[in-house]
Amino acid sequence: MSRDELSDLLEEQQSLHAELKARGGKLDITRGKPSPRQLDLSRELLSITVPVHAADGQDVRNYGGAKGLPEIRAIFADLLGVDVDHILAADNSSLSIMHDLLSYAMLHRIHGATEPWGRQEIKFIAPVPGYDRHFAICEHLGIEMVPVEMGEHGPDMDEVEALAADPSVKGMWVVPMYANPDGVIYDEETARRLVSMPAAPDFRIWWDNAYALHHLTDAQPRPLPILQMAQQAGHPDRVFEFASTSKITFAGDGVAFLASSTGNLDWYLSHAGIRSIGPDKVNQLRHATYLKDAEGVRALMRRHRELLAPKFAIVEKILGNRLGGTGVARWTHPSGGYFVTLDVLDGTASRVVALAKEAGIALTPAGASHPLHRDPHDRTIRLAPSFPSEGELAAAMDGVATCVLVAAAEKLLG
Ligand code: PMP
Repeated sequence: MSRDELSDLLEEQQSLHAELKARGGKLDITRGKPSPRQLDLSRELLSITVPVHAADGQDVRNYGGAKGLPEIRAIFADLLGVDVDHILAADNSSLSIMHDLLSYAMLHRIHGATEPWGRQEIKFIAPVPGYDRHFAICEHLGIEMVPVEMGEHGPDMDEVEALAADPSVKGMWVVPMYANPDGVIYDEETARRLVSMPAAPDFRIWWDNAYALHHLTDAQPRPLPILQMAQQAGHPDRVFEFASTSKITFAGDGVAFLASSTGNLDWYLSHAGIRSIGPDKVNQLRHATYLKDAEGVRALMRRHRELLAPKFAIVEKILGNRLGGTGVARWTHPSGGYFVTLDVLDGTASRVVALAKEAGIALTPAGASHPLHRDPHDRTIRLAPSFPSEGELAAAMDGVATCVLVAAAEKLLG
């Protein structure tokens, strides 16, 4: 475009932006929350009655049962492809287990460590863009993060292997399926290299399978059998795998899971047993009764897909119509998960977020997908289409496209 054409474009988009501001709307696409309609799919959970005794005879109303009920563990062992002895069921948040594991390792010696991590200068590998709450845990505990760019099938593994060879690198964040936020699916080769690469004896991968079952298309890859792969590679303790029903049943009242080697689970339980006298087994039994088996979960996920896929199609359509071919934005086309990553012209992501805010559209802050909120290119914006209604989402996406064009034209005109 010539400067004159750019000025015309800027003027036109600025007037659209002014209209949005004048309308005084309030739209929010910041967080990957299930919509009320998705939560309604599992309304039955609120009224379901369960026996007071689980299959193994324990009274679910009482203390104890640190590893969680066998019936709910069996369902998720099946779904994740892990042995039922290698998975435990906890309370409602897998993020809390991730946080606890890291805190325990900071304070107490994890297997293979010579001293607690809190007494050393340690680092974590952080694929970017990544999940802001993973990075927040490291930031909160004072752990340095080393960003590695994501590729099509996971991060650049040559770089990861080089970093892991440093004995002060103790951990890595991984969202292996439909990664938050770019939807990447780690392929088998990447996973094999992750579990095989030389690393410190106390190096662990936080393998966060939050979206393992959250397909949006018919291509429905099975979760990689990462624990078996680690075992076969001679590093049985390398992986902590996580999952939860937060985006299957209720985000605020589900069941979370930790799968790992016996050594790691025993180590976790030795600390978790100090923190709590046992998980919410009534909710676990309610979930096992409601979900029934792995197929019950898959059937429920198909109903989520019916509600979610049209929203992702709206994002795709509006971004395509408004920004396609402009060269100032590109975005992901995820086949599962909860997010679309929108990359805008370098140096304009924070401006886009600020313009959207003026127009009443709340976006995840620019930089959130990077450690310490520092996106070196000021480029990446995470879009979360799940929560708003289709009408609200369409209005928000149209507004976002306007903001992207305003910011790009401003930048190009200097
Ligand atoms: N991991 C990832 C990658 C997520 O995106 C989320 C939710 N946004 C979580 C974990 C949170 O899981 P939970 O609700 O089980 O704590």
